[in-house]
Amino acid sequence: MEVIIAEEAGFCFGVRRALQLAQEATAQHGTVFSVGPLIHNHQVVQRMAQAGLQVAEDIAAVPDGAVAMIRAHGAGPETYQEAKARGIQLIDATCPFVTRVQQEAAGFAAEGYQVLVLGEPDHPEPRAIVAHTGGQATIVSAPDDLETLDVGDKVAVVSQTTQRLTNLQVLVAELLPRAGELRVANTICEATTQRQQAAVAVARQADLMIVVGGYHSANTRRLAEICQQMGTTTYHIETAAEIEPEWFRGIAQVGVTGGASTPPEAIEAVAGYIRQIAKANQEG
Ligand code: SF4
Repeated sequence: MEVIIAEEAGFCFGVRRALQLAQEATAQHGTVFSVGPLIHNHQVVQRMAQAGLQVAEDIAAVPDGAVAMIRAHGAGPETYQEAKARGIQLIDATCPFVTRVQQEAAGFAAEGYQVLVLGEPDHPEPRAIVAHTGGQATIVSAPDDLETLDVGDKVAVVSQTTQRLTNLQVLVAELLPRAGELRVANTICEATTQRQQAAVAVARQADLMIVVGGYHSANTRRLAEICQQMGTTTYHIETAAEIEPEWFRGIAQVGVTGGASTPPEAIEAVAGYIRQIAKANQEG
């Protein structure tokens, strides 16, 4: 049995940067509060907790005068205002690509566009993007949402960084005949696109795909969805401990990938464990 690891998999630039900032902050200040889990990966969050990074549900849960971190997903302006008012020192790990989406959305809103954010309604990134438009923007999770939406004359679209390009294309195609003027900022992050393309390339040749990463990670879930849609049996797992050896019965090629919040060592651990299973099957 051959194990193929996707060419682009695991930590992206924004997550590496956030972790680096968190490590520096805890080394300098001891206890630091992250406003929401720093990344959508339990294992990394637990490891960082041992270094002093505590998770606060929101800025209201951070004690006055403490040191707090904004994660790569970003936060709305009200978080920055409250931190300032309560003497909280903020370390901002918002990914620069997310900042760009916030700025595009805020700019469109200021120019009087009805702003639509293609994204997941409950995900912190699109919610923060909406907050940067003063609450004016609307999150659209799928083109079907347009059926119940009053589409205005001047419409602008931005996207959560982890969306699939095809979703954005479909949304834009639906909007074109309905909006008088349509502006689109393709704010899908390159790291996301690269991981999706690499996953497709592997899923095309593999009999089975293992996608490693947090169950709450939007981009990891999307990778699993894409592999599944390719018609390849796919398992989304967080760690190698979840692997069942019988998954690999009669399988010749296994593809392994991981989302932007998955540590490369977790992907390697999974690949290594599958190789051990392959070896045991051969010997048995
Ligand atoms: S996926 Fe892209 S936008 Fe999101 S944190 Fe990583 S580099 Fe930044």
